[in-house]
Amino acid sequence: MNNLLRIFTFTLLPIFLIACGGSNSDSNDIAGVDGIRENIITSNMSGGFPWNGSSSTRTALKIWSIDVDGLIPVKHKNIPEAIYALNEIEMKTGKILFDRNSIINTPDQEVERGLVFSFGTALGPNGVEANGCGHVGAVGGSVSYPQGWYDADGHIQGPLQVNIDSDQPGGCTNGSNMNKIAVHEVGHALGLGAHFTGFGIGDIYDDNMWNALYNMYRNQPLTDIEGLTIEKAF
Ligand SMILES: [Zn+2]
Repeated sequence: MNNLLRIFTFTLLPIFLIACGGSNSDSNDIAGVDGIRENIITSNMSGGFPWNGSSSTRTALKIWSIDVDGLIPVKHKNIPEAIYALNEIEMKTGKILFDRNSIINTPDQEVERGLVFSFGTALGPNGVEANGCGHVGAVGGSVSYPQGWYDADGHIQGPLQVNIDSDQPGGCTNGSNMNKIAVHEVGHALGLGAHFTGFGIGDIYDDNMWNALYNMYRNQPLTDIEGLTIEKAF
């Protein structure tokens, strides 16, 4: 492991991953338009992990471009929590986002664009741990995102693996929250990077996450901070 990767792993990953198994309270205030904007900026438009692409996209919006590239291919493997998350996200955003068929028979390692779910492979910042209930990374289970998972046009392409639950001794097997954790992790895969209040801080997620995703997917990729159009939907 080179020094750069070492710094990356030990300073940035814990901030990102530590609350993916977070609490399940419902006590956060729901931000208004200004707060929604701040949450999107914090999570998607400020650089930092997992935004490892060109600096020209650092402060621009990065999302899957359904209009240009098509629906997001997903390989959910009939994992109930995965299907729950896909359904919930499409309902709350009011958009069909996912193509649930086209890569169903494609081997994980051959998926070029899309999301691959994996049950039992979740890791925390220190590897297998009780709070490591879910993470997103490269196909194969890495906690690092692949290079090129989004392009210079701000289009997320993946391929990304969405890991939930752990089948390892000492790992997270918090079944009662696993639906919520699956939603949270797909939120990461849709372009939420850093946690904010109502997304991994305070709650696994609440309406603050829904407001962020709802608005991200009603703006165009590469929109800059001044150009963001925001409405409070929840
Ligand atoms: Zn998280």
